Amino acid sequence: MGDPAATLRRVFGYDSFRPLQREIIEGLIDGQDAFVLMPTGGGKSLCFQIPALHRPGTAIVVSPLISLMKDQVDALRMAGVQAAAYDSALDPHQARHVLARLHAGELKLLYVAPERLMSDSFLERLTGLCPSLFAIDEAHCISQWGHDFRPEYLALARLRTLFPNVPLIALTATADAQTRQDVRRRLGLLNAPCYVASFDRPNLRLTVVEKRKPVAQLTQFLTAHPGEAGIVYCLSRQKTEEVAKRLAAAGVPAAAYHAGLPAARRSEVQEAFLRDDLRVVVATVAFGMGIDKPNVRFVVHFDLPKHIESYYQEVGRAGRDGLPAEALLLFAYADIARVRALIEAGQDPDQTRVELHKLNAMVGFADAQTCRRRVLLGYFGEPLEQDCGNCDICLDPPECYDATLDAQKALSCVYRVGQRFGMGHVVDVLRGAHTTRIRQLGHDRLSTYGIGSRLSADAWLGLLRQLIHLGYLEQDIARYSVLRLTPKAGPLLRGEKSLTLARPRTRVFATNRMDAAADEESTGSKCKRKREHPAPTSKTVAVPAPEEALFQTLRELRRRIATEQRVPAYVVFSDATLRAMAAVRPLTEDDMLSISGVGAYKLAKYGREFLAVIKENPGTEASVQT
Ligand code: ADP
Ligand code: ZN
Repeated sequence: MGDPAATLRRVFGYDSFRPLQREIIEGLIDGQDAFVLMPTGGGKSLCFQIPALHRPGTAIVVSPLISLMKDQVDALRMAGVQAAAYDSALDPHQARHVLARLHAGELKLLYVAPERLMSDSFLERLTGLCPSLFAIDEAHCISQWGHDFRPEYLALARLRTLFPNVPLIALTATADAQTRQDVRRRLGLLNAPCYVASFDRPNLRLTVVEKRKPVAQLTQFLTAHPGEAGIVYCLSRQKTEEVAKRLAAAGVPAAAYHAGLPAARRSEVQEAFLRDDLRVVVATVAFGMGIDKPNVRFVVHFDLPKHIESYYQEVGRAGRDGLPAEALLLFAYADIARVRALIEAGQDPDQTRVELHKLNAMVGFADAQTCRRRVLLGYFGEPLEQDCGNCDICLDPPECYDATLDAQKALSCVYRVGQRFGMGHVVDVLRGAHTTRIRQLGHDRLSTYGIGSRLSADAWLGLLRQLIHLGYLEQDIARYSVLRLTPKAGPLLRGEKSLTLARPRTRVFATNRMDAAADEESTGSKCKRKREHPAPTSKTVAVPAPEEALFQTLRELRRRIATEQRVPAYVVFSDATLRAMAAVRPLTEDDMLSISGVGAYKLAKYGREFLAVIKENPGTEASVQT
């Protein structure tokens, strides 16, 4: 039934496959199974959507979330593909209609929730129909080792034996070796080809800053990214509401999203965000698995994520369109204890052990003084040969200084107060604070009282934290977080060893987004920002004003269409596609078809409207293509 590349072009409007897509697609069309590991935004959906169009019958796609299914179905329909979802959101009449279409052979893809698929009645239906393939999205949900175990996924283990002749593809963005193996074993894919795409997302700028005044830091960041849409993740429901309220008060269109909100409110927020009507969603982890919006320009972690897997999956929601995007983590040592407490509240000791281990790796990333991407990709077993040039460490290497003397002062102060006090008190003594408590305890008579008045309290706190992290001090979380020396502190105190530390940073927009996708087109907004630390490899591509203006006009048209048709904006065209239109200014339908993201169906549907807008907005001579 033809060439998959032609389908890629005609239906999805893309010129070339991303790495591994072609191999996976051809294998599946041939009837082979596949296990696919690709980072979020890597392009997993096409891996089963194109084979579904090439094989006879209906492809059955399993997905854990209704919202995820809905968006994929919307996007497919927009591209002219017969697709539907069969889930608990349908009323009985709609459900019957979907089943009738399934039996009539009208559907190329059917999205089903796992518990529905594995019900006896549904399996019986399928046996008579012979599906074209099974695709299991978010396949890590079947593993207890993964970070998002869903018991209803366990039943999927039977699929491989129930339908031995139907190819099965499992896809996930979770990569640690144990989970990977577990998923393959459970799904009966141990002998199936295993495709592991690179986890690198070079267009994502990774930044970690020390969390000091988080709301102010966040507002600063948003000011530095005017008009861009993004997600802010918080650890608790209450915090999401608080932060959303404060952002709204500061004039940023923001709303909270968490599992405690009524379903109607949740979909209202999600839809407004997808339609580009809402700029910022402040959310718990409940938000996002179903967010395929490609023009999310930033993801901020207001609190520490529990593990690198969820961190990377969440930041991966930014910049799916391949254009530059930001991942900002506000990191406070105090958050470690909070996350640890959450993990330790769990029931299963094995699970707790795994999760604590994962938390340590997360802290290691946040605390790293070396290229973040190297730490991250190293964790996923994909070592990077060079520094990335697009993380805070690469762009603005931390200033190192000889901290031996300061460290000695701090350690001996911890010792002098009897290793019975927390950071705040130790800093007060070092700086010679005049508090009643210090007087009552007689700590103003200690030899270390006031020896650190030269440094600010923040500087001392930062230093103490680094000493903890490097293992010179330990903090007894169970006993009011008092500080104690470790054996490692001895040689440093006695002057047998010296210590070099990085100066902590709290600025959040000191570095600018490099043209990470340097071969992609540049975005307008980033050119307006001041570039303080140009990356050595970066190049600045100025977007001419008429092009930016046309892009904004095209976005407006897209927003209107999306609202009218009640679909997410990106389902009409992605930002990358609109940027290409603004740059190329196609004037005929043929020109339009050459734009990445414009397929035959969408051309017929929207081509005229977009062409009209482009013709109405002539660019300067130079930018008109001949
Ligand atoms: P994932 O499911 O892996 O997170 P998606 O399947 O949602 O990623 O794809 C991410 C984005 O990349 C989507 O907007 C998709 O249309 C786009 N995309 C996928 N494959 C290609 C391709 N070959 N060329 C251009 N864009 C692509
Ligand atoms: Zn780097």
